[in-house]
Amino acid sequence: MTIDFAEILLARQRISASVLRTPQREARALSARLGVPVQLKCEHHQTTGSFKLRGATNAVLSLTRAQRDAGVVAASTGNHGRALAHAAAAAGTKAVICMSRLVPDNKVQAIEALGAEIRIVGNSQDDAQVEVDRLASEAGMTPVPPFDHAAVIAGQGTLGLEMLEDAPHTTTVLVPLSGGGLLAGVALALRTLKPAIRIIGVTMENGAAMQASLAAGAPVMVEEVPTLADSLGGGIGLANQYTFSMVRDLVDEVVLVSEVEIAQAMRAAYFEEGEVLEGAAAVGIAALDAGKVTLAGPAVVLLSGKNIDMKLHRRIMAGENPDLAAEARHD
Ligand SMILES: *Cc1c(COP(=O)(O)O)cnc(C)c1O
Repeated sequence: MTIDFAEILLARQRISASVLRTPQREARALSARLGVPVQLKCEHHQTTGSFKLRGATNAVLSLTRAQRDAGVVAASTGNHGRALAHAAAAAGTKAVICMSRLVPDNKVQAIEALGAEIRIVGNSQDDAQVEVDRLASEAGMTPVPPFDHAAVIAGQGTLGLEMLEDAPHTTTVLVPLSGGGLLAGVALALRTLKPAIRIIGVTMENGAAMQASLAAGAPVMVEEVPTLADSLGGGIGLANQYTFSMVRDLVDEVVLVSEVEIAQAMRAAYFEEGEVLEGAAAVGIAALDAGKVTLAGPAVVLLSGKNIDMKLHRRIMAGENPDLAAEARHD
């Protein structure tokens, strides 16, 4: 299944008063190193610290009156949970975010502080999802999933409109990729407005679910491995409806970056451009600096979020290249 470009235009009208139009600016040092103009779409400056506010807001504002009265529910502990909590509170709608007992207190409190009701259930993300399904069937709440959902994809797609408006001569864009809601939406907008543009998805070597699924020709499961790009973790869903086919049909290539390349890109963003990025947001810079993508003309790199534990950020800025998979094995 796919969505129509018109849904992205409608999404922009619906969400424009509720989300920031984030700045896009030249990356001076990166442009100088690569010899072509590179711009940074600074979506990590978005309210709640990531682009996920766009899709969540579009989903909440697309609800019927009766659905709004019953509220929304999701199982995300990360950027989608924050975004949905904020979007629901802003619209005067109830949000319940379900989490397992293993989720650290600071993550629970961050989402609670945004106005959501927290439901702690079981010992895994799967248990939390069972509670989402129960609240949907028994309390009539509307589940808002993090990526495989038409209104969410359309909301993320509004970024593609802004990127091209601010840099019409762009020939290549680099977009972080996990479940593919961001890339599917942005790619639909770009492909519609500028058919010849080169669209590249970037993800981490540790657990690249979309890449493995594209190679297999259908959604597959991959083992989850701790990574600096924690917001890119998780599968694409074996029953994937939208993002697998949209990414397959609209995107030119998917590039993988290593943990060391991500850490190096986070340092480049900080010391050269003055930007604090979480690992997931640094993969585009990583792909360029590692020489995994060669640019023939002006490019835009989408910076997707900034929600990182600042103790971890400080370690990386001090020159460390943390191997989180190895650290987890030693715990
Ligand atoms: C969710 C997220 C992504 C990946 O988005 P998908 O739609 O799952 O591909 C990238 N960066 C950040 C910061 C995110 O929170």
